[in-house]
Parts: sequence; structure tokens; C-alpha cells
Amino acid sequence: MIAKVRLGTFRCGAYRVTIGDSQPQDRLAVVRTVAGLRKAVASFRAVGRTIGLVPTMGALHEGHVSLVKGALARGDVPATSIFVNPTQFGPNEDFAAYPRDEAGDFAKLEAAGCRIVFAPDKDEMYPVPMLTTVKVTGVTEGLCGPFRPGHFDGVATVVTKLLMMAGPDRAYFGEKDFQQLQVIKTMVRDLAMPVEIVGMPTVREPDGLALSSRNRYLSTAERTAALHLHRQMTAVAGAVRDGRDSCSAATAAAARALLEAGFDKVEYLTVVDAESLRPLERVASPARVIVAARLGRTRLIDNIAVG
Ligand code: AMP
Repeated sequence: MIAKVRLGTFRCGAYRVTIGDSQPQDRLAVVRTVAGLRKAVASFRAVGRTIGLVPTMGALHEGHVSLVKGALARGDVPATSIFVNPTQFGPNEDFAAYPRDEAGDFAKLEAAGCRIVFAPDKDEMYPVPMLTTVKVTGVTEGLCGPFRPGHFDGVATVVTKLLMMAGPDRAYFGEKDFQQLQVIKTMVRDLAMPVEIVGMPTVREPDGLALSSRNRYLSTAERTAALHLHRQMTAVAGAVRDGRDSCSAATAAAARALLEAGFDKVEYLTVVDAESLRPLERVASPARVIVAARLGRTRLIDNIAVG
């Protein structure tokens, strides 16, 4: 089962961890170091392959797997990173409790056809105190921005590091985190980073709930209430399509319905321009209904296209 490799290879459970390998592998290679990642990437580049990076925080589900499959569909060798990035969590957020399941993640990645998983520890990602931060303005200022101070600085900085470490041709992100996707696209455009950012559709449960690593925090009653998020976004999208209803009236009604359904707080429920993320009152250009709401200790975010 385990492919023969040249140097510095050892096992982690059922998986092979590669430090100094220079041959492209036909199964998942687990790398823990930046040097190992660069060697694994170079081995595929040497045989003419392109690389598709899929940055994640692990606890993988079908949403993450769809990004790996998106990379495969475009002919890229998928390289997934798994790193729960402390700098994008606020002091009262769930960094310590964030779900971790490395063995399960590796099995899902292998089954999906991923070829490289980069799973560094904190000292590998941040070997010295960081004196540099990548900060995107504008698209970070509304929506989650005020509720999660510093979050997008942490995201932009770690994604920049991952892009510099892996040097992929494309990087794949989910529309599920729509503001994050716009932040990354803006950063790559503004800094002329040599990578194409590919946004992939949100994968949902049959009742509409977007898959999320945090859904496992939901109690049975909260899980039942959670399906109203998609239902209310759909109602808003229908109401405001083609400039029919005012966005503020439609979103106010939907926010009330969420509270009645058992949500504890609606942080925002807004219709925004799909590129600038500025709030709209009437829809005349590509737009998204976008929401963040709390159910018990779980913060859920989601969005859908209008029209
Ligand atoms: P995370 O591990 O939550 O940081 O997510 C890693 C990547 O997976 C991000 O680009 C997310 O937008 C994407 N993602 C998370 N959930 C989904 C989903 N339900 N459908 C599609 N992509 C997703």
C-alpha cells in the first residue's frame, strides 16, 4: 500500500509523511514542513502538472471535498492545506474547541483524489513572531468585519503565506464564505499574485443547510431551527429579484422570522452587491443575500445569489 520513497519518510497512522521525497506520488503524500511541501509540488511540476491549492482548517466534509474535485476537474494536482489558524480567531472565539480529525481528513482526501496534504504545526507556520500583516480594506469593512475584528487580517495573511509556500496555479475557495472569497480575490488582484482564484458553489444538506465544520456543535433542536436560514434567504432573494421589493423590508421580515424560529441573534441579514459587498436597497446588478446568525453557541454564516 505504501509507495517506496527516497528519503525522510515515515508513517503517521496509515499515512506516509514525506520530508525529502522528489518523486511525484500516485497517492496522498502528507507533508508537515514548508520544505516538504515545496519538494512535493516541484515533483509534480517536473512532470508538467499544474497545482490546485485548497486551503482548509480541517474537520473536512463534502464541501471541502468539492473543492478538491474542482481542482481535479480543471486538471490540477490537488494540494490541500489543513491548519487551524490561530490569528483568524478572536479571543472569545472557538479556536481551542475547533473540531480536529486529522486521520479522518487524510482518509477523505485520499478517497477524493488529493495528492498532497500540507498539515503544518503552529511553529512551522509561525516560526518567529510575525511583524507583517496583509490587510485588505473595503470588502472587509462590513458584514463579518465589525463582528470579528482582525479576522480577515488573519485570513489574508495566512492565505498569502500558503500561496507563497505552495506556489499553486489555482487556489480553490468556497462561496459559502462569500466575504472571504471576495477578500482573497481583492488581495490577489491588488498584489498581482500569480494565481487564479476559483470560487466553488456551496454544498448543502438536502434541507438547504450549508455544510460546515461548525454544524457539529448544533443540538437536535438547533439543527431543526438551522434549516430556516436557507429558507429565509430564499424568501428574500425571491422578494427582491429584479428590484421588486425593497431589500431593507425583505431582510427585516426574514430576520424576524429567524428569531421566531429559534435563532438567538441575527448579526446581519443583508442584500449586497456581489463584488463590492456594499448593501443594496434595490437589486439591479449581481447581488447576494448574506447572513450571519447565532443559534446557541454556534455562529452560522451563509449566502445565496439573487436571481
Ligand atoms: P474552512 O475549513 O471552514 O476554513 O473552509 C475551507 C474552505 O472550504 C473555504 O474555502 C470554505 O469556503 C470552503 N467550504 C466550507 N464549507 C463549504 C461548503 N459547504 N461548500 C463549499 N465550500 C465550502
